[in-house]
Amino acid sequence: MNVVSVRVHLADGRYFDNRHHGWDMERCRPDGSLIWESLEDVLHSIEYYYTEGNGACDCNKVLDLSRHAGEVDNWEQPCGDTLETVGIIATMSDGRSIVVYDRKSLGS
Ligand SMILES: [Zn+2]
Repeated sequence: MNVVSVRVHLADGRYFDNRHHGWDMERCRPDGSLIWESLEDVLHSIEYYYTEGNGACDCNKVLDLSRHAGEVDNWEQPCGDTLETVGIIATMSDGRSIVVYDRKSLGS
């Protein structure tokens, strides 16, 4: 079982799907060891990426939004943290959806 797509919801109501990031549970380091040892590990990495990591930056969110819309890649957005992530849902290879992050349930 694997993560095939990640949907990220923003506070302004927009969302995008990212199928290209390589959240592949069989992904290995150059030495052949697995990067993620469990589903929980990969889901935690996805949450981190879109709430604290590079994927949380406005520039990457606008790029992802443009790709989701099938538009020309938009590299124009300056870096910043104005586009807040409020929800992350992973779609699995077996068709299941897993809520990775839900700001509302965190009470903030
Ligand atoms: Zn940035």
